[in-house]
Amino acid sequence: MPRTVITGGAGFIGSHLCDHFMAQGHEVICIDNLLTGSRDNIAHLEQEDGFRFVLHDVTRYIEVDGPVDHVLHFASPASPADFERLPIQIMKVGAMGTHNALGLAKAKKARFLTASTSEVYGDPEVNPQPESYLGRVNPIGIRGVYDEAKRFAEALTMAYRRVHGVETRIVRIFNTFGERMQLDDGRALPNFISQALRGDPLTVYGDGKQTRSFGHVSDLVRGIALLLESDVWEPVNIGNPDEVSLLQVANEVIELTESKSELSFLPLPPGDPKVRRPDIQRARDLLGWAPSMSRIEGFKRTIADFRARIDAKKS
Ligand code: UDP
Repeated sequence: MPRTVITGGAGFIGSHLCDHFMAQGHEVICIDNLLTGSRDNIAHLEQEDGFRFVLHDVTRYIEVDGPVDHVLHFASPASPADFERLPIQIMKVGAMGTHNALGLAKAKKARFLTASTSEVYGDPEVNPQPESYLGRVNPIGIRGVYDEAKRFAEALTMAYRRVHGVETRIVRIFNTFGERMQLDDGRALPNFISQALRGDPLTVYGDGKQTRSFGHVSDLVRGIALLLESDVWEPVNIGNPDEVSLLQVANEVIELTESKSELSFLPLPPGDPKVRRPDIQRARDLLGWAPSMSRIEGFKRTIADFRARIDAKKS
């Protein structure tokens, strides 16, 4: 049975990866310092054979006994709200955390897959963004801490591939949402859903005409698993090309929650990308991957999950 290490395994995406690889029969070692992750996300796995949770900060040396077949590096705060709250932690986990995770993969001769991001494209001049687009990132802007950490992580991953022959994979993740996102995560969708369910105004930044393309976490996990199995070392975009304005998203959330909330327009944070949409041709051609869950179906599931957690908090 393959042994798979998942850094950030108690986070939103990490915990869904733990579920997936446990279901595949892997032994899963979930490493997390719980800075933005939560033990609740993996509570259902903790008693299962073959699952182990290790409370550890991966910016420090990572010790794992025995053989390891895969290292999936998903540790990092990822909400723009964290870019201002946790900028140094973000840079440390992107740099030192990636270095330690690569060192573990090298020592164990494991296959390494790192979570990169559409943020490597910055505020893009081309839409949609293919992997060949080199990006427009402001290193000293508020988003620079995340964007540059992830760009550094990609560069270091390629260096380990070239120098040490580590088998590497890079997934560039576009806006992903779904069950288990933190209620107060700070990103648009969790904010809108929490606000709508509580009857608070939905905070739309700017005029809401900026676009994003939202993909459900189940499609992302399937893409990551295909990438890991493949021999594709080049970065691969995984996201849903279904591009939509944030204003439309806010209105859809109000409709789906049957909320009486209104919209409240707040200033657009500096450096906020105006458009974002993945070009997924590479994932289609090389992995045979395409998203299958519609935005609205994904929103419905996420709303049901948020509603259950908000109700549980009340009682
Ligand atoms: N946004 C918004 N209201 C919020 C949170 C975010 O209008 O309460 C906007 C944000 O300015 C951005 C888009 O929604 O244009 C997506 O933001 P998010 O924080 O989800 O992630 P990003 O894609 O910017 O990394």
